[in-house]
Amino acid sequence: MSGRPFIVAIDGPAGAGKSTVSRLLARRLSFALVDTGAIYRCVALQATAEGVALDDDARLGPLLGRLHIVFRMVEGENHTFLDGRDVSEDIRKPAVSMAASAVSSRPVVRDGLLQLQRRLALEAPQGAILEGRDIGTVVFPDADAKFFLEASPVVRARRRFEELFQRGTESTLDEVLTEQTKRDHDDASRAVAPLKAADDALRVDSTALPLSDVVRGLEATIRDRMAQPR
Ligand code: C5P
Repeated sequence: MSGRPFIVAIDGPAGAGKSTVSRLLARRLSFALVDTGAIYRCVALQATAEGVALDDDARLGPLLGRLHIVFRMVEGENHTFLDGRDVSEDIRKPAVSMAASAVSSRPVVRDGLLQLQRRLALEAPQGAILEGRDIGTVVFPDADAKFFLEASPVVRARRRFEELFQRGTESTLDEVLTEQTKRDHDDASRAVAPLKAADDALRVDSTALPLSDVVRGLEATIRDRMAQPR
């Protein structure tokens, strides 16, 4: 029997439903939720605030050590606090999405964030859901359950557009699709830890599936694995 919490990896491209699915699963299973995209977004936000260029490795490295990131559930939503300030809205802005994708291609940033991501998951009392791009391949290659969420580009862009609209951010579906296409390309083609499914991940395509069905399917698989000896 493994002494560590039960680790669930949920990877996939932007807009595949990872955030919604992860949040609902964490609540249903009473697991901690580690939104690794939010961590990269915090790095981008802080770098921009300090005037650090997104490819300035010499200054990005020390900046990581100063970041103090905490996740806390507020009224059923996973909020991100950076140095005690709730940055949940700021980090979702389209400019921060692109900046996060840029800093995430720097090996100094990826290496520097590995321990933080692992620590946040390992200090969970029962289990943790980690959502990102490289959880099943790099952060926790030995995760207890691995999923790779997918959906067609247009369906993903529409979901992201609705999310931005609900947050009050003005954009068009075309803009969201263009930004998403660039980010997918950059994330999948970067040299370090590119976006890709782990060989042993269960691939789930939600193009024609409501996310509630996805959640139920994943929950059943996770509970099944939890019932087996580790
Ligand atoms: O998931 P989210 O859209 O919030 O992630 C923002 C960006 O952070 C992604 O486009 C990707 O470049 C980067 N990221 C990453 N590895 C992760 C999570 C996010 O490179 N595990």
